[in-house]
Amino acid sequence: MPLLWFILWLSVEILGFAQKDCPDEKRLEAAGLVDVQTVDPSILVDLKYSTTDNFVKQDVYGCITRCFLQKETAEKLAQANRLLREQYPHLRLLVYDGARSRAVQRKLWAALPQYAPKLRENYVANPDEGSIHNYGCAVDLTVANTKGDEPLDMGTGYDFFGDLAYPRKEAQMLKAGRLTKRQVDNRRILRGVMQKAGFEPITSEWWHFNALSRKQAARRYGIIE
Ligand SMILES: [Zn+2]
Repeated sequence: MPLLWFILWLSVEILGFAQKDCPDEKRLEAAGLVDVQTVDPSILVDLKYSTTDNFVKQDVYGCITRCFLQKETAEKLAQANRLLREQYPHLRLLVYDGARSRAVQRKLWAALPQYAPKLRENYVANPDEGSIHNYGCAVDLTVANTKGDEPLDMGTGYDFFGDLAYPRKEAQMLKAGRLTKRQVDNRRILRGVMQKAGFEPITSEWWHFNALSRKQAARRYGIIE
């Protein structure tokens, strides 16, 4: 038995070391970005591009499993989570993506060749211009129960490509019966706390929020290549 415990202990140590030693995470930390869960451990994270449960069906993040953001953006997010908890003690923010390198942005862009560049920009920012995610100042997220296994029904999943995901078409979709009042109300819970904390929503994705404009982000931070 003691040998078995030793082997178990050793595996945990080795795994722990491997996780701490992710060079891509180290690079983000060296660039001044912070792990959002070190700012607020009650924020839930399910980094979709670090799994195969995403629109490219590939793990494009490799060893990156934690969500990084610029410190100011992470602090705003913690504020949004505080506001959410005050209003709805049984709910938490569940983050799908934060800082994303331009190299990953290129992979996402290349994964949608069926859309002409103009239309494609509705779904994925052009890597030549750079997404606000590439500065660590944008976040993709939803709202879930405290365990994170029951996200609220927002009418579509994350990275749904189509007008059902467009906040600008919610009224129209509600009228046409393609979204329910509950789904729109759930999106409003998310938008409400995010806007109060200083984030700007966008008109084409219910899950995406910017802490700064692209211009402000570019002035203050470099692109993570
Ligand atoms: Zn986004």
